[in-house]
Amino acid sequence: MRRVAVLGATGSIGASALDVIARHPERFRASVLAAHRKVDELVALCVRFRPDLAVIADAALETSLRDKLAAAGLSTRAAAGTAALSEAAASESCDSVVAAIVGAAGLESTLAAARAGKRLLLANKESVVMAGPLLLDAIRDGGGELIPIDSEHNAIFQCLPGRGLDLAQAGARRILLTASGGPFRGKNRAELAAITPDQACAHPKWSMGRKISVDSATLMNKGLEVIEAHWLFGATPAQIEVVVHPQSLVHSLVEFADGSVLAQLGNPDMRTALAHALAWPERIEAGVAPLDLVAAGALRFEAPARDTFRCLDLAYRALEVGGTAPTVLNAANEVAVAAFLEGSLPFLAIAELIEATLAAISAEPVAGLEHLLYVDLTARRTAQIKMRHGFC
Ligand code: NAD
Ligand code: MG
Repeated sequence: MRRVAVLGATGSIGASALDVIARHPERFRASVLAAHRKVDELVALCVRFRPDLAVIADAALETSLRDKLAAAGLSTRAAAGTAALSEAAASESCDSVVAAIVGAAGLESTLAAARAGKRLLLANKESVVMAGPLLLDAIRDGGGELIPIDSEHNAIFQCLPGRGLDLAQAGARRILLTASGGPFRGKNRAELAAITPDQACAHPKWSMGRKISVDSATLMNKGLEVIEAHWLFGATPAQIEVVVHPQSLVHSLVEFADGSVLAQLGNPDMRTALAHALAWPERIEAGVAPLDLVAAGALRFEAPARDTFRCLDLAYRALEVGGTAPTVLNAANEVAVAAFLEGSLPFLAIAELIEATLAAISAEPVAGLEHLLYVDLTARRTAQIKMRHGFC
């Protein structure tokens, strides 16, 4: 029986993970559930899954969580605060951790799970972008395994012939990272000027949280994924090509030295990646409808519109600069997306704010976690000041 901690249990990935877990009660138990502020939703999940431990990240909600668990007649222990997230991820209460918190808020619990040698099911791509070298060290030191949940990286993992292999060891030449193109594929910059948050979050193929939905609309999601692929598979920027594939059926491809290209296909449903990672190296039912290739017809591929969706090149540039540049990129993006979702920053200004923040902060070699947290904070403050002073 695998005991699984689901961090970000009330989110989109959390729901998909719990759906797969519920299909296999003989294999998996959701032993830890964690959320940010939604106490009632967390307690409802506890009633259903009866975990040993529930964690609410907002420390002010500890009493509320404790009282509501008791009122529901549950013996689930309650904990609160960000340190409790990391303690839970590293604790004896679980052997696998679904890292599905959104944004930099997921970094420390992701690192804690890696250091403790858990099977890390990594959805929280921002933690790899912010702190790729630290995460790789933590996995190595902890002796556990990282299985990517991001559908593209899960596809690449499946196409490579062995666990933990980088491209060179696998005899692979490059990665073809597929992108849906987001809800605004084909639009020009003039058409994007007045985009609203709800339009940006209406993704044509995937149902996801609001932050990643905006990232998909700007193509920053693909940029973050290029950086993620660099760290997870040892690929240089030149070895990662982004290909737009609007149907989202081919989740990514790997090209080998002999000219073979392997792809992983399936309907766009995150339960496939979650079931794969939960059961790996076995295969289990995920509740995903079978792929109907005849109904899909011709599979289409095209180049990304880099001049319209500038975030993709900003991410490539940050990866090439290296050091702390991806940390700055991620922090500025989080600030810009939050401002866009609040209605205080226009859609096209997201890329401009990130570019201005990257230009203002020189990249340095990564010196450790404290250093990266400091760079993250500095980049957030810089982006906020620039926004207040009309940076563009
Ligand atoms: P979501 O907004 O639906 O859920 C986010 C979860 O994180 C919620 O449970 C929330 O309670 C928790 N959370 C937010 N802030 C927190 C904080 N400060 N402390 C603790 N918990 C916090 O987001 P999502 O779509 O499920 O995405 C989660 C992560 O997975 C993101 O990093 C995203 O990029 C990645 N991802 C998502 C998908 C997808 O299909 N949704 C696909 C690939 C990767
Ligand atoms: Mg993805």
